[in-house]
Amino acid sequence: MFAVKRALKLNNKEATLMAKHAGFRRVVFNMGLSLRVQMYGESNFSDAKVISFIKKVLTNHVKKQPEFAWMNQLSSRVYQNALIDLNEAFGRYRSGKAGYPKFASRRDGQSFRVDSSNGKVLVKAGNTIKIPTLGTFRLQEPLRCGFASQTFTISKEGNRWFVSFCVDAQRLPVQQPQNSVGIDVGIKSFVTMSNGQVFDAPKPLKQAKTKLARLQRKASKQIKGSKNQRKTYNKIGKLHARIARIRLDFLHKLTTYLATTFKSIKIEDLNVKGMLANHKLAGTIADLGFYEFSRQLEYKCQMYGASLVLVARWFPSSKICSNCGHKQDMPLSIRIYDCPACGMSRDRDLNASLNILNWEPSA
Ligand SMILES: [Zn+2]
Repeated sequence: MFAVKRALKLNNKEATLMAKHAGFRRVVFNMGLSLRVQMYGESNFSDAKVISFIKKVLTNHVKKQPEFAWMNQLSSRVYQNALIDLNEAFGRYRSGKAGYPKFASRRDGQSFRVDSSNGKVLVKAGNTIKIPTLGTFRLQEPLRCGFASQTFTISKEGNRWFVSFCVDAQRLPVQQPQNSVGIDVGIKSFVTMSNGQVFDAPKPLKQAKTKLARLQRKASKQIKGSKNQRKTYNKIGKLHARIARIRLDFLHKLTTYLATTFKSIKIEDLNVKGMLANHKLAGTIADLGFYEFSRQLEYKCQMYGASLVLVARWFPSSKICSNCGHKQDMPLSIRIYDCPACGMSRDRDLNASLNILNWEPSA
């Protein structure tokens, strides 16, 4: 069993709808909790009985009041799930796993759950997702295959809304169309593949970084602690968050693409620590998120059933001629591999990725 989580691409109207549902969840949970607190003396009733009584009060009384009529416009599954949450919160309290349930506040974050009351529903592959009782919404990153799930959690992180749901399977049923690929991870191009494909870090990332450097210079010239400097720092914080978001989106798209396209992926065992010790490269490498890249690639290969082969760290992938096996030194500044033995001339990173593809573990 694992969770699938995707960022939603919402317009203002849809985002407002989500916020309303999160508010609905909070109001129902809090009303239920306050009713529960008022009835606390009646301890001869089970939690389940008390919750079902609360449900009756809310359904037959509260929802019929004109000031709560808005509740009827929203998904009743939010309401059901909020009461299930309340019941579980009391269960955890009784078993000593948690303290007495607290009122939900907007500061705890906005989230809610809906489900299909008729059991699991099919979530189709593609750029949109149909969420039971809420409607169909666009996704930032498409779903590569279909899933079956019953319960969907919608939550807000920063300024973005996410949907997540659990899938009951060991791995996803994906047939990768291509066999194997060798991948060279580098600084000039983020990823160079043995089939000639290249993935560069996204352009908006570079632009955001230039802007970041400008703001940092500006802040350093402003009067310490001044209102203007605080404003600049505020902008810097927002920009950092934006950069992290763009990078994460890029890495997710890339690793999903790799794990769903190739049956076998060969890649250098990225010794991130070793690379970070090299001061010239450290900034760039940390920036590009190599560590996050290998983390995602590993779990996605497992999830989609692709095999991930880590090439030994000391394997000199850039120094070997991928055509004849000749070996020579290749300082970072040399971008083309010119082989004096066989005359091959190839892009440095492409040459390395072909060597990685041809690498076999020694028995
Ligand atoms: Zn050669």
